[in-house]
Amino acid sequence: MYKLIDGKKLAADMRAQLKADVAEFKKEIGLAVVLAGDNPASQVYVKNKIKACEEVGIKSYAYYLPAEATQGELDELLKGLADNSDIHGILVQLPLPAHLNSERALKLIPVEKDVDGFSADNIGKLCMNEECLVACTPHGIMKMLESEKIQIKGKNAVVVGRSNIVGKPVALLLLNADATVTVCHSKTQNLKECCLNADILVAAVGKAKFITADMVKEGAVVVDVGMNRDENGKLCGDVDFENVKEKCSYITPVPGGVGPMTITMLMYNTYLAAVRSLN
Ligand code: NAP
Repeated sequence: MYKLIDGKKLAADMRAQLKADVAEFKKEIGLAVVLAGDNPASQVYVKNKIKACEEVGIKSYAYYLPAEATQGELDELLKGLADNSDIHGILVQLPLPAHLNSERALKLIPVEKDVDGFSADNIGKLCMNEECLVACTPHGIMKMLESEKIQIKGKNAVVVGRSNIVGKPVALLLLNADATVTVCHSKTQNLKECCLNADILVAAVGKAKFITADMVKEGAVVVDVGMNRDENGKLCGDVDFENVKEKCSYITPVPGGVGPMTITMLMYNTYLAAVRSLN
């Protein structure tokens, strides 16, 4: 019998704890959110992040740049935020409009304020297993595994997907936790064989119901990162949940799994950045 890993509940519990920790912190904690342009999905994400800040008591500073803002304007804004001691975390909502350079923007965020954990400096530190700010979705996945006391050490972990924001950092985290890690991608020749070897299988592909029951080992822990629409327009993951679940020891649902953890980990990272700023 499988067990669901309830990301919604874990996220709610973590936010309640964070609210108490933030209230006890010596000074007001600040998160700057920078949105350039009018991408509707980005607007929704930013709104949700600001709402989460309100919920846990973090002060949000929202900066809305017009779609035609120049790189110079974005640079100036980020340099000012980098120097502002009231701001503990900075995030630039991606994707930026095409004429703005996101790599350059990420480089202007000091590593200790990069609460999205997307910068090359933070990924490099993660790779070296040094203290860093870990990208929110991968960080949330590790918290979910931890919450169920799932053993990682010595296990075979397979990550399907190698994006800089999910696949690669989650693979590094699992490796740092002493799993034997395989990373699969679109050029992988023996995907099914690799997946069947997984004690822990993380799907971060972006294709509805891509991981089918014949790819999953009996008793595996399956983490579904995907956020897709099925043929009826219903939200679904990368895993064919209904057919896969019975083979699993643990599985994350979509919705209610990894999704709710992501913004919670952004709040957690901002709190962590504030705590570390005292040292
Ligand atoms: P992405 O940048 O599009 O990366 C997808 C990865 O899947 C790539 O590495 C790609 O390989 C690989 N892939 C594609 N087709 C494949 C195939 N046939 N076989 C094996 N691998 C294949 O996506 P992402 O940003 O990592 O996001 C992945 C999913 O997670 C999406 O559904 C996204 O919406 C969701 N997501 C959810 C959250 C959350 O909070 N829950 C956060 C972020 C993302 P190549 O590298 O070879 O192209």
